[in-house]
Amino acid sequence: MEIKETQAKSILVKSKLPESDYVINCYTGCGFGCSYCYASFMGRFVGKKITDWGEYVYAKVNAPELLKKELSKLKDNGKGVTILFSSVTDPFQAAEAKYKLSEKCLIVLADYGFEGTLSVLTKSPTVLKVVPILKRLKDIDVGITITSIDDKISRYFEKFAPNASARIETLTKLNQEGIKTYAFLGPLLPHFVAEKNKIKNVLDAIYKTGTRRLFIEHINLAPYIKDRMLHELKDVNPEFLTKFYSSQSKDYREELNTVIYKLLKSYDFELLHNMILCHKDGA
Ligand code: SF4
Repeated sequence: MEIKETQAKSILVKSKLPESDYVINCYTGCGFGCSYCYASFMGRFVGKKITDWGEYVYAKVNAPELLKKELSKLKDNGKGVTILFSSVTDPFQAAEAKYKLSEKCLIVLADYGFEGTLSVLTKSPTVLKVVPILKRLKDIDVGITITSIDDKISRYFEKFAPNASARIETLTKLNQEGIKTYAFLGPLLPHFVAEKNKIKNVLDAIYKTGTRRLFIEHINLAPYIKDRMLHELKDVNPEFLTKFYSSQSKDYREELNTVIYKLLKSYDFELLHNMILCHKDGA
């Protein structure tokens, strides 16, 4: 793993995502190295290949200082503004233990008195360490990505990320702390093609944590993501890969949607965006 310190030019960056106005990414690259990660395209900004994703992390060591200055872009202390923390990296990956950039940026936001919504998205229990800071913010929403409840599956697709059980436990603890949470069930992994019954197990596990809000998204197998997955999963059985690719077809998505929507009726989850999100074919 290559870890390097860099200086960012900007840290509070306008977002093109529908659910956020700004994004903050304190790291370029992500040590969790999930094989399906759409953010692998970020390598082009630092001279890395798509297949290098997961093998480098550049820490933007000036992020907290820069954020302090850039918060002046906001009016009314950010009232009505949503910031996503983070969109193309995990803010609480291993490098955070050394650099604490995410933690310091959260302190900057709390000291500034940010009045908008701060949405934190992570796979890491390290987020629990910043709960006292999160509690100082007016509107905080923490999402934990749960793609499976099977630790073997998480190890397979999310090589260096905290395993599934650690994430379920993190959601439970956040709820016990009174933090507003949601579970990001995304991407819907291709093993659901063969084992749709497993989705119920995931929903049951999330429900037991106390979380009642869900963000669900189909997998995005854009060509660059598919190429990297082929590279990452090169030893897998070709039959599995064929099934895997079928998860991009409209028919498959509709079939899976039907299963999930039917299941959701037996819980009182709120489905964020009121739909299971998907990327357009091949995009
Ligand atoms: S944790 Fe998120 S940003 Fe990091 S590799 Fe996995 S999907 Fe990508």
